[in-house]
Amino acid sequence: MCRHLAYVGPPVSLRTLLYDPPHSLARQSWAPRDMRGGGTINADGFGIGWYPPDGGEPVRYRRGTPIWSDVTLPALAAATTSGAVLAAVRSATVGMPVLDTAAAPFGEGPWLFSHNGAVRGWPDAVAGLAGRLPVRDLLTLDAPTDSALLWALLRHRLRAGEDPAGAVAETVAEVAAVAPASRLNLLLTDGRTVVASVAGHALSVRQVPGGVLLASEPHDDDPGWRAVPEGRLVVATAAGARITALPRR
Ligand code: GLN
Repeated sequence: MCRHLAYVGPPVSLRTLLYDPPHSLARQSWAPRDMRGGGTINADGFGIGWYPPDGGEPVRYRRGTPIWSDVTLPALAAATTSGAVLAAVRSATVGMPVLDTAAAPFGEGPWLFSHNGAVRGWPDAVAGLAGRLPVRDLLTLDAPTDSALLWALLRHRLRAGEDPAGAVAETVAEVAAVAPASRLNLLLTDGRTVVASVAGHALSVRQVPGGVLLASEPHDDDPGWRAVPEGRLVVATAAGARITALPRR
């Protein structure tokens, strides 16, 4: 069920995150190791969001086609450098459309967001939560998918000034309360801090010199990868990762 990663640290080429590692995100699109029954490959799109090294808002490149079929991306990735990246490959949940705009990262202003998982009972289970959002937000959802709605719910909290870690934790809690057994691995960054929930899917963290990597699956055999246990919230910066329990409702 989708594979995603986030990196914050010294500037690197996108190629070193997407293609170079032996079990890179590109490889995980066709040979993932840990899908937990949620599909077999991640062929329904991909997206990369990166922060320009000289500052400013992140740039996003998203497609509704397999990452391996994009013949332009390898050269683009080799030529593009960034110190903060969020990328994902998508396996669409049954019943959800395959569109460029359904691929993570979703974003607004400084934020990039990805969801690995599925909302159980979609859409009825979360219709009540969705109904509390401004009508405009619902009319302008990126796509009619669970992930796009999760982004709208989280974004609503961020716009209200909630702190990112609390906003991710609360979004997971409120959705889990009405849609039990959902898989809600969220990933949010502003280019400096990465917040991630581990709720139904795997996530591993690795400190690298001057930075941090978070990924659904370790992309190499480095012993520095740590699997984050279920039910945790990770708040990571280049300086380190803090792992706490996700609150329950
Ligand atoms: N349910 C989401 C979608 O269909 C995410 C899927 C996933 O994690 N595989 O886009």
